[in-house]
Amino acid sequence: METCAAARGRRLGRSGREADARPSTLNCLSVDVEEYFQCEAFARCVCREDWPRLERRAKPFLERLAGLLERYHSRATFFVLGWTVPYLAPLLRQLAQCGHEIACHGDAHEHLGRLTAQGLREDLRRARMRIEDALGVSPRGYRAPTFSVTRATAWALDVLIEQAFEYDASIFPIRHDRYGVPGAPVEPFWAIAPSGRRILEFPPLTVRVGRLRIPVGGGGYLRLLPGAVVRRSVAARQDRGEAAMLYVHPWELDPGQPRLPAPLLTGWRHCVNLRTTEHKVERLLAAFPFDRADAVLARLCAERTLPSFDLRGRGG
Ligand SMILES: [Zn+2]
Repeated sequence: METCAAARGRRLGRSGREADARPSTLNCLSVDVEEYFQCEAFARCVCREDWPRLERRAKPFLERLAGLLERYHSRATFFVLGWTVPYLAPLLRQLAQCGHEIACHGDAHEHLGRLTAQGLREDLRRARMRIEDALGVSPRGYRAPTFSVTRATAWALDVLIEQAFEYDASIFPIRHDRYGVPGAPVEPFWAIAPSGRRILEFPPLTVRVGRLRIPVGGGGYLRLLPGAVVRRSVAARQDRGEAAMLYVHPWELDPGQPRLPAPLLTGWRHCVNLRTTEHKVERLLAAFPFDRADAVLARLCAERTLPSFDLRGRGG
């Protein structure tokens, strides 16, 4: 992120003005800040105790993403895994100073299906403390590892509300074996937690194909689909005045990452099209303005009444 680091003060002003020149965008680009070996795909073959011994590779790819955002005058939300904060703090501080949002991706990248409410509380407290102490910002938003807020783990929304988070970005409105809430709204909405309290939810971009709802907003989907399909999906939302949430991980720009001993299909899904991700992200940034999630949600709340969706009951 040499450009941003080189002239933070000036650039912050410039980025701010240019972002303000496009105040109406409802497109959000988000980055889940984590290492390649923390991906859920490797949870069974890489122990958490191994993490400190593995090569940390995220920084240069975060810098490349930050450089692209700078070049195309867009802002993004970085959902930061607390574990990465001690060694990424200087870069994350620069991102915050450049106008990007620092949000929370938990601390230990634990799928919510394996946590209790108390376990999540502790994970969030650790992550929040690391982010606040090292970066001097208070995260308002959360994304669960592997989009693991489902009907079965909807209790997590109450924990987020208790812990003063203002929005969540973890509910995929699709049917999937590991995550997803089929039938959930595909645009930002108020999620009604089991206690009856509510929290804003910003779901990732999906499109309807026949009777199916297909994810297009990030991860393996974004890497597998032709770039034109993703761009058409964003354009369609934009034309209808609707929000679109995209997401990317730093390791998705890193074709040279070590291969881990995962099952064949898992390894393929993790590595497919890593060489083309950066180009796809750049084409998206060249085609559309993007803003941080908290700004897009504030804009939406100011101009319309968002729908509510009840996650009480029918868990499991
Ligand atoms: Zn993650």
